[in-house]
Amino acid sequence: MKTSEVIADLKRRFPNEPEYHQAVEEVLTSIEDVYNKHPRFERYNLIERLCIPDRIFAFRVSWVDDSGKVRSNMGYRVQHNNAIGPYKGGIRFHSSVNLSILKFLAFEQTFKNSLTTLAMGGAKGGSDFSPRGKSDMEIMRFCQAFVAELWRQIGADTDVPAGDIGVGAREVGYMYGFYKKMAREFTGTFTGKGLSFGGSLIRPEATGYGNCYFLLNMLATRGIDIKDKKVAISGAGNVATYTAQKLLSLGAKVVSMSDSGGSVIAPDGFTREQFDYIFELKTYMGGRLHEVPERFPELKYYPGERPWKLVKCDIAMPSATQNELDGSDAEALLAGGCFAVSEGANMPSTPEAVHRFIDARILYAPGKAANAGGVATSGLEMAQNSQKLSWSAQEVDNRLREIMAGIHDRCVEFGREDDGYVNYVNGANIAGFMKVADAMMAQGIL
Ligand code: NDP
Repeated sequence: MKTSEVIADLKRRFPNEPEYHQAVEEVLTSIEDVYNKHPRFERYNLIERLCIPDRIFAFRVSWVDDSGKVRSNMGYRVQHNNAIGPYKGGIRFHSSVNLSILKFLAFEQTFKNSLTTLAMGGAKGGSDFSPRGKSDMEIMRFCQAFVAELWRQIGADTDVPAGDIGVGAREVGYMYGFYKKMAREFTGTFTGKGLSFGGSLIRPEATGYGNCYFLLNMLATRGIDIKDKKVAISGAGNVATYTAQKLLSLGAKVVSMSDSGGSVIAPDGFTREQFDYIFELKTYMGGRLHEVPERFPELKYYPGERPWKLVKCDIAMPSATQNELDGSDAEALLAGGCFAVSEGANMPSTPEAVHRFIDARILYAPGKAANAGGVATSGLEMAQNSQKLSWSAQEVDNRLREIMAGIHDRCVEFGREDDGYVNYVNGANIAGFMKVADAMMAQGIL
């Protein structure tokens, strides 16, 4: 297998899907040597079968808005690979959603889920519907129309969706409710559910907390203490806010947060009161970060800007969306003394930024390793649903810590280079790939 040839072929067959090409190229570059050491893989054309999704559902979702107008959006589910377990991956509702983005996310999800060691294949779904500015009833009607199309393709042992950008507990609740009505069964077909109907404690916190646990493991390899370290975070949604919450409890200083309108900066770190306000504003009040200085005039808001060039930090944790940190942002971070990057979002750093981090030999954790705590805890929710049991917050949190430490160990095992540097990108890709490849080979050509 030659990465350049596979990518050229994918570009020819699936043009106009840049995010998908980007994600595939990164993984194939990492695994090329390992793959070529196993001639059996090539005989079974494993690479093509691993890069192209098992199947994709695309459908129209029609719904009625509050004014009585009929609206239509596109809905999708990409079932990428189920060699090691049922398809599993979130649903994204955002105006930017298209097949390229969902194919990249489903591809990444396959390796991430493999890394967790839990029995979960990879999938992703979503719609170009944006919940922003919609009423609660509009969101409910949309979720129901979306699931009216999707429900036949999913199931507790078939395909288990969860949340992602624009899909939180409210949307999962509406989708699960309608699924239950159509399928006439009460099973764990969605994760991220409310606690009263099968949800798991710590699931909302899990991606952000898990990223912090991964970061602690990375810092420990260089004997660095997190206390008083300045951390720049992007995003102000589920992943970003729980990352910030955990960092504050660990004694770190969170110096930035952002939303799609701009960034709010605190060069010496947000106080607990300031963070609690941001959390309330973004999580429960549907607010925007530009409102923050009205309450705390000492905090500066930068419209339309990402945090990376606005403030110095020791650590960066991009937690908003893909390709939100480019080569020049990476330069600015490195020039400011940043020595660790741990990704909460999926593929937030462009390839150029990743190269700069690795060339500079800083600690750099790709999203598929660092943000795997979310899906891992979804796996724990599935296990609890199967047992019809609920575990305590402590138990789930302990398992999450163990899983993140295990992922870190596998990245070190597969990613250590001759000079001792741990290349977490290679480590995560190779470790994730080997398990899926082994299962695919054993199961024959499907
Ligand atoms: P949320 O919808 O809760 O929050 C997303 C945040 O990012 C919001 O603050 C949003 O701004 C901002 N944002 C979204 N799109 C853009 C954009 N194009 N430009 C600038 N800012 C943007 O999503 P999550 O926190 O759940 O997800 C964030 C990232 O983490 C995604 O990459 C997701 O795939 C990844 N992830 C999420 C997991 C989870 O468990 N939720 C698990 C693993 C990965 P605004 O408030 O203005 O909309």
